[in-house]
Amino acid sequence: MAVDAREHTSSWYAATRHIATDYPVLHGEHRCDVAVVGAGFSGVSASLFLAERGYDIALIEANRVGWGASGRNGGQLIGGFSDPAKFEKRFGSSAAGIVRRMGLECRDILVERINHYRIDCDLKFGYLDVAARGRPAELRALEAQLEDCERHDYPHAMRLIRGQELADWVRSGHYEAGLSNAGNGHLHPLNLCIGEARAASQLGARIFERTRVTRIQHGARPVVETEHGTIFANKVILAGNAYLRNTEPRLRNAVFPAGSYMLATEPLSEQQVQNVLPADVACCEQQIALNYFRLSPDKRLLFGGMCNYSGRRPADIAAALRPRLARIFPVLANVGVDYQWGGDIAISINRIPQFGRIQGNTYYVQGYSGHGVAPTHLAGKMLADVVCGDAEQFDLFARVRHLRIPGGKWFGSPMLALGMSYFRLRELLG
Ligand SMILES: Cc1cc2nc3c(=O)[nH]c(=O)nc-3n(C[C@H](O)[C@H](O)[C@H](O)COP(=O)(O)OP(=O)(O)OC[C@H]3O[C@@H](n4cnc5c(N)ncnc54)[C@H](O)[C@@H]3O)c2cc1C
Repeated sequence: MAVDAREHTSSWYAATRHIATDYPVLHGEHRCDVAVVGAGFSGVSASLFLAERGYDIALIEANRVGWGASGRNGGQLIGGFSDPAKFEKRFGSSAAGIVRRMGLECRDILVERINHYRIDCDLKFGYLDVAARGRPAELRALEAQLEDCERHDYPHAMRLIRGQELADWVRSGHYEAGLSNAGNGHLHPLNLCIGEARAASQLGARIFERTRVTRIQHGARPVVETEHGTIFANKVILAGNAYLRNTEPRLRNAVFPAGSYMLATEPLSEQQVQNVLPADVACCEQQIALNYFRLSPDKRLLFGGMCNYSGRRPADIAAALRPRLARIFPVLANVGVDYQWGGDIAISINRIPQFGRIQGNTYYVQGYSGHGVAPTHLAGKMLADVVCGDAEQFDLFARVRHLRIPGGKWFGSPMLALGMSYFRLRELLG
């Protein structure tokens, strides 16, 4: 049977979503205060903030709510918005302080949303950044992170875990140490995204699915053209991230999409769980092409990794990920795999999220560079704030200069793949 690419991918998340959304396709002419393009976390979060403030919103999604990275990711809830050190260097210590607070705020917004709207998305706290054996730079990075958090009164419990104790958290000879963080955790991202969209809809936001925005005519009153209809808006928010592709020519080559891939094993036995992740925390490595993993409530290992810049999706994702999985957990070398899928993340050259305006009334955000579950939630608030006239946080990021990726066709470019391999090599050499 032919696969309908506009429906959800073959993920464990799609198979276990609580609601199969069926918002209408947009037909005919519509008017609204703000048209939001893309119903991932960024677009849904912005829509929810604006709907709460009484704005008339049209949220337009080419596929299904949460179809993109937001419904496919590792589900790792990681605080932090951007690297404060980069802002310290360019804009001084007060800017770095703002970015640090934003790192806490993005996580708090997400948790507040789940509690306030009673969204059933398996939120569980517990997280470990891991350092691989034989890579002293990774251990030093964890020590530096802990020291920095202590110096800036980070409010959640953190601890460096080494030696025998590490086996109580993650049972793998691959790792030397871990930095636990009680403020971070894991969740079912698709159920979260769908739950937040439902909250926005209940507050009056009009959501359209299976409706691709094909063109935006900019002007005093932007016109958003879709496949079967048109929206006349006062303001537009572009939240298509890696999937926006050519919808807005001015954003072409600002970020490049990289594929990341995941598998879900068969449910593990209690003994296997004890041999792998006894503390049921989310774990994440620190390199560019990192591995990340956690348990689902039904005790599958959700394992993700790779960062593919070539544009070529592996023909067999499970086969491509299995050697990584077996290296970290040899006891799972032959475990059954029930689900496998991939998705695109948008990477900016300096790895700082990109915020900006086009002709004064169209705003965009993109380029979370791999960690977006929490940051998208604050990005939504920043977009809502700028629409309402408060541009403080938005403009701090809009001031960052971003390099464009040279050449017309970055995705799949051998030069790009080569460049990223260089960074990966540097990482491996420590
Ligand atoms: C496999 C994978 C694992 C990841 N793991 C983690 C993790 O564990 N923790 C973490 O913090 N981050 C993780 N990320 C990153 C995180 O998922 C993203 O940063 C975040 O979800 C981006 O959200 P978004 O709303 O900006 O984009 P998306 O979720 O990609 O949403 C964009 C939406 O816009 C729609 N769209 C695009 N163009 C148009 C158009 N022209 N018209 C209408 N609609 C359009 C798309 O269909 C899509 O649904 C991961 C990403 C991937 C792919």
